[in-house]
This record gives sequence, structure tokens and C-alpha cells, in this order.
Amino acid sequence: MSITAIARPEIRALRSYDAETTLDDALRLNANEAPQAPGNGAANGLNRYPAPRPLGLAAKLAALYEVDPENILVTRGSSEGIDLLVRAFCRHGLDDALVTPPVFSLYRIYASVQGAGVVEVPLLDDFELDPDALLAACDERTKLIFLCSPNNPTGSIIPRDEILRIVKSRSGKSVVVVDEAYIEFSDTESLAPQVSQFENLVVLRTLSKALALAGARCGSVIASPAVIALLDAVLAPYAISAPVISSAESALSARQLAAAESQVRQTIAERERLSVELAGCKAVERVWPSQANFLLVRFSDLASVKRHLDAAGIAIRSFEGDQVLQDCARITIASQDDNDRLLRAIRGLTC
Ligand code: PMP
Repeated sequence: MSITAIARPEIRALRSYDAETTLDDALRLNANEAPQAPGNGAANGLNRYPAPRPLGLAAKLAALYEVDPENILVTRGSSEGIDLLVRAFCRHGLDDALVTPPVFSLYRIYASVQGAGVVEVPLLDDFELDPDALLAACDERTKLIFLCSPNNPTGSIIPRDEILRIVKSRSGKSVVVVDEAYIEFSDTESLAPQVSQFENLVVLRTLSKALALAGARCGSVIASPAVIALLDAVLAPYAISAPVISSAESALSARQLAAAESQVRQTIAERERLSVELAGCKAVERVWPSQANFLLVRFSDLASVKRHLDAAGIAIRSFEGDQVLQDCARITIASQDDNDRLLRAIRGLTC
């Protein structure tokens, strides 16, 4: 049985919006577009709708992620992929999404918007996943299992064999979503190519982090063609705008990919340097090892660190008040100069 059988019946019955693709040289009288460039200005083509789906960009992303183009749906950031999955698989009041806190909060937020239940299986004390506890918490309501690896905000990895064990155990019953937003900063391999083996595995990737295109809003859902077709029917036609398509396509040129790779190597080197330097600061109690572009840090007195950094014009993500992440903050790895600025501000603190 296809995993799409567990999707919401209304979504299974949907067909993709029948957006027409028009030949480039046709006289376009079929889409109610303006005939002239905006403000009669530069001929940038923005008076025309983009392609309903950016197939050229999808093919380039497929090559990057080592999957077939039919395994890719291009979305407005991977955030939108999360939203589409919840909307396609969770019925209001009847189905659940399972999350493993501390973890990226958007899974819970989109599940709540949809009226789905949220089941929590907390990570263990050292931020490792407990696969047995996770599987024990699953039942017939569990439609989505969100696994974040590397995990935001802990920077930890879920071992590949544990993820695949969960995927296999929940075959035909739950969709396992592996969010790999930060994978380029880790020493693990993506599970994306495995979507051809496991129909209930979905991988999320994004151009927002390693590819430095957060402002463009471009992500990918990578899944079996059946799941992609389902999500495609939910995604708005013309979702990806022409400027996003062109900036994403140019970011995927061999030259720009090589530049991004070297930038990632620098970020990793800075992460390791900052980790050692922060651990030596008086105000710091603990720095966790990270496989992402941020560090999770516990301070002896987060409130006073936060006040001090605010005054210095430095923003960090504080988890003040969080039960598990008490006195912790997530700090993004920046350029060498900006990391030095952060270190100077924190070194000045004695508590
Ligand atoms: N997943 C994780 C784990 C994230 O931390 C983020 C953003 N911080 C996203 C997904 C969403 O990223 P985007 O929508 O920019 O692709």
C-alpha cells in the first residue's frame, strides 16, 4: 500500500491546479498578464507569470542532492515544505505530528495551525534521540515524525541507522521527515538518495544556510514521486517567483557552488575556534559540540549575558525560561571579525 493512503482524503482527491505552460514565442493572450514591462521600465519579464513549476531549477537541485527530478518539489524555503506535509497528512483533531524537543519550533507551530495533535518524545539528557521511546510513542494517529539532523538548536546528529530503523518500523503508517537544513556543516551524508528505497521517507533541504540564500526563500522537499504529487497539489501555482528562480539557478553554477563550499569550510573552522574560545570564558558553563552553523552555549547567568550583549548590539537566540535549555543560548557562527567581536563582549563578563 502506498504511503499516500494515510494522507487526508480531500488532498488525495485533489488534482494539481491546471496551470498552462506557454511556449516562449507564443503571443500570450491566455493568462491576463500586462502586455508591458512594469512602469514601462527594464524588460525584466516580470509582467509575465513564471513557469507553474520551475522545472529547470528542480533538475539542478536534483543533481545537487543526487536524486531524480521527479523526487523534488521546490518550495518557498523548507518552512513551506513542513507546512505542506502537515496540511497533506494531518486531519484536524484526528492526527498527530511527533516531535523530539528541544527541536525547531516550526513543526509544532504548523501542526497547531492545522489543528493536529503534537506528541513530544524529548531527547535524552545528552541530546541523543531515544528511538525505542519514539517508536513506543507512535500509534495509528501518528502521521508525521519530524527528525532534525543536525538538530536545531542542539547541533547534534541522529545516526543514520537509527533514522532508517524508524523509517522501516513505520513503513505504511507514518511519514518520517528528516530535516537536513544544516547537513552541509556536518560530517554525515544526506539521506536524500534513500527516498527511492523508502516511500515513507521525506528529506527537507534548503538554500538558506550553506548556499547563503535565506532571503530568496527556496527549499526542496525530496520524496517518492507519489508523495511529491500529493504535495504538488497543495502548493500554490507559480509559487516560486522569477527572481528567486534566477538567483537560485545562478547559486547552483559550478563556480558559485565551489565558493559556497569554501565558505562552509570557513564556517566550520570558525565554529571549532569559537567553541574552544567560548569554553574558556568565565561566563560560559558549557559549549556543546555542533555539526551545524551555530553553537549551543550554557551561561552561568544568561539574563545578564543577554543584557550585556543587547547593549553591545549583538543578538543571540536566548532560551531564557525554557525548562530543558535553562540559561542556554544559540549563537550563529559569523565571519571571523564578527566572532571576535562576540568574544570580546563575552570575555569582558566575569559572572
Ligand atoms: N529547518 C530547520 C531545522 C531550521 O532551523 C530552519 C530555519 N532556521 C528551517 C528548517 C527553515 O528554513 P528555510 O525556510 O529558510 O528553508
